[in-house]
Order: sequence, then C-alpha cells, then structure tokens
Amino acid sequence: NPGSSAELAQLLVRAAATDPADVVARLRGTFDTGRTRPLAWRLAQLGALRTLLTEQSTEFMAALHADLGKGETQAYGEVSFLLNEVDHTVAHLEEWLAPRPAAVPATFQPAEARVVRDPLGVVLLIAPWNYPLHLALAPMVGALAAGNTVLLKPSELAPATSAALARLLPRYLDREAVAVVEGAVPETTALLEQRFDHIFYTGNGAVGRIVMAAAAKHLTPVTLELGGKSPAVVEPGADLAVTAQRIARGKFQNAGQTCVAPDYILAIGDTAAALEAELTAAIETLYGPDPAASSEYGQVINERHCDRLAALLGDGRLVTGGAHDRVARYIEPTVLADVSPDAPVMGAEIFGPVLPIIAVPDLDAAIAFINERDKPLALYAFTASEQTKQRLTQETSSGGLVFGLTISHLSVPELPFGGVGESGIGRYHGEYSIETFSHLKAVLDKPLS
Ligand code: NAD
Repeated sequence: NPGSSAELAQLLVRAAATDPADVVARLRGTFDTGRTRPLAWRLAQLGALRTLLTEQSTEFMAALHADLGKGETQAYGEVSFLLNEVDHTVAHLEEWLAPRPAAVPATFQPAEARVVRDPLGVVLLIAPWNYPLHLALAPMVGALAAGNTVLLKPSELAPATSAALARLLPRYLDREAVAVVEGAVPETTALLEQRFDHIFYTGNGAVGRIVMAAAAKHLTPVTLELGGKSPAVVEPGADLAVTAQRIARGKFQNAGQTCVAPDYILAIGDTAAALEAELTAAIETLYGPDPAASSEYGQVINERHCDRLAALLGDGRLVTGGAHDRVARYIEPTVLADVSPDAPVMGAEIFGPVLPIIAVPDLDAAIAFINERDKPLALYAFTASEQTKQRLTQETSSGGLVFGLTISHLSVPELPFGGVGESGIGRYHGEYSIETFSHLKAVLDKPLS
C-alpha cells in the first residue's frame, strides 16, 4: 500500500544519508572544490561555532547533566573551555597560517624557500563520553581552522550530548563541510573502513589500537589522545593543605572521570600520614559532608563502570569514602592508604573517584616507580624544591608535567596537549592543532634566470 512505500522511501533516504561512504564522498567533494581553504571560510566557521556555543549553552548543559549529572559549574566549564579555544585561534589564525621563510644554502642561491601549511582533506574525529562536548569540539576547532572538512562521531555512552551535537551542528556550520554520524561500535567500525586524511581519536588504548590498525590500511595519519595512570608526587616541605585541595579538585571533578585526573599519590617520607587528614578535609570543603547531595559532584557514566569501581574500594585501608550506589551511579569520593603497588586499584587507570596513596621513602624511589610503568598522560608534583622539579623534568617522561596544580595545563592555550608512549600519539590545542591538521609543505623557488 502507498503508506508503506512512502515509509520505505523515507527509510532509504535515511539509510543513504548515513551511509558512511556517501558522507565521506560528500565531504571530500566539498574539500575538492577548495571552498574550505580561504581564511574567510575558516574564520566564518569558528565564528559559527562560537555562536552555537553561546546560543545553545543551556541545551548543551542540560545534555551534560543528563549524561553525567554535571552541575552548572562543571557543564559550563566545557563550554567556556571551547569559547577560549575558539577565541585564541581566531586571534592568531592568520599569523599561524602565514608561510614561514626558510634559509636557503649558498649552493641554491639565488632562491627562496618557505613552509606552507596545507589542509589535509577529510578529518574523522572520534570523541569519548567523559567530556563529551569539550572533547568533540576542541579538535573540531583545529580541524576547521586548518581548512579541512570534518566528520564527527560523538560517544554513544553520552547519548544526550551526542544527539544535541547531531541536531545543532548542522544548523550553525557549513553542512557540506561538517557532518555528525552518531553510533556505537558497528557504526564506528563502518566509518573506519573509509579513507580519511587524518583520524583524531580520544579514548582508551585498546580502541586506539583498533583505530590505528584501520588507519594503516589507507596510510592515514592518526592522533591518539589516550589515558593512563597519572601520578601526583608529594614531597615533604610542600604545603600539604594546599596540596590536598588541589589534588582533590583535579581527582574528584566529574566523579574522577577525567583523562588527566591524578590517578594515585606517591607520598614521599612522612607526607602519607599527614595527607590522609588533609584530603578528607579537602573533600568536605569541595562537596560538603554528603557528596551524594552535592550538585557539582557528578555521576559515574553507567552501572558497568560503577561495578568496576566498587570492586576497587576494598584495596588498602579506607581513609574516607567507600559508599556506593549502583542505581544512582554513585561512588563516594574515596581515599585509600597503605595500598600495595600490586593491588588491583594500581592495575589499570582508575577513571573514577578512588584515590590510592602509595608511600615511598624518597624521590629516587618515586622516580623509579614512575619509570617502571607506562608513560603517563600527566605527571603532577607538589614540592618546594627547584632541584626536585629539575630532576622530575629530566628523569621522567609524561605527556605533560605540572608543578603545584592538577589538570590546569590543558587550559594554557600555548601549551601542546597530548600523550607519549601508552598515553598517546600527537598533540593539539591552539597552534599545535594547526600543525596536527595540516601538512607542512616544503616550497623551494629558484628563478629560471
Ligand atoms: P568511549 O567508550 O566513549 O570510546 C571512545 C570512542 O571510541 C567512542 O566514540 C566509541 O564509540 C568508540 N569506540 C568504542 N569501541 C570501539 C571499537 N571497538 N571500534 C571503534 N570505535 C570504538 O570512551 P573510553 O575509551 O571509555 O574513554 C575513556 C578513556 O579515554 C580513558 O582511558 C581516558 O583516560 C581516555 N581519555 C583521554 C583523553 C585525552 O584527551 N587524552 C580525554 C578523555 C578520555
């Protein structure tokens, strides 16, 4: 009957619209016209992203609340990070894109040489669920600023944010140059069969390997923004009240689900015992006597992760916290002391509000502990000693190194953000995003006469 044939036609249209090969072909067609290359187009897209973020901030914040229980401060934090990234990029883009002159050896003179930043083509962005807005759009700022077309695959584990991105992005950005494809493993697997000119993936290392293997088939370069266990070293002589506040803030924000959250504390000498009371006090200052009632604390993403985290609460000796509620997706901010390096909580990245303290006798032992393990995404240290800072800088390897704070390095727009070894490949933010999403083309020009 006519009803069902109309339905069928509609279904076919929808299937065609989301066929990965068609979406990529459309984006490639747009790139090939050259319309994404001019500075004016790039600035217009960044301006449109800014308008989207300001006009729809309430919508995005509601989605972040639905997905992760993010309160206003946390949710707006994702929006404001992006506004800063857009503004910093708009302010400098022309200067970043200018060809850079290079010196020419005497044998080739007279001649001119320069480095030109060429857009790559079609970029695939695969985003995770923990900061589902920030981590979807921050790489998009760089990919568009570098003159590419973009296919975004948001995380299916943050469905409200994924739906908001799919609905709102096409209303603001160039529809022929930016596409959103929602979905889980089957859809992502289908996308990864296509040929892209760059794949930018944020998430865990197991999937990072799948992404890199798929990219290898087309010789597509990848950026992998991964995670790992980021230590916080605390040395005697550091102000332990301030140290505990800053570690607690970085650790328990978003219920511990932050890629650069301090994963565990390496407490040197007698700092371990003193930190127990200071961390307990810091948690109460942040979330009150009952964190379950705090609007800013946040939820664990799903029951599976809740179960995984609850199983870690028995390791070591409980200092504070320990409560959990699977239905409310709640794990209380928890500090564990006397934790053995072999305990399960010291196995994989915790990615939740559980903070083990490992006591080590001295800085040598702390450095050895770090270097025996995978290179972390971030290393934090709280120390009053310049010599310690120098030793940690020279004797350890990590994506970022921060003294006296946690997490904040990613909000310094002129610093690169990325991992090393198991914590990732490549970097972005600000001008580093332009480098990531461009080809640095060597141009040599010698007159014929
Ligand atoms: P996730 O489960 O949302 O996965 C990330 C993306 O990979 C999603 O879009 C998902 O659809 C896709 N995916 C999942 N399985 C896949 C498969 N088999 N094939 C193809 N695609 C697949 O997020 P996650 O990995 O649980 O995120 C947590 C991890 O990400 C942590 O390790 C964290 O440290 C890391 N992380 C790193 C950064 C960073 O900037 N370096 C930021 C956030 C999170």
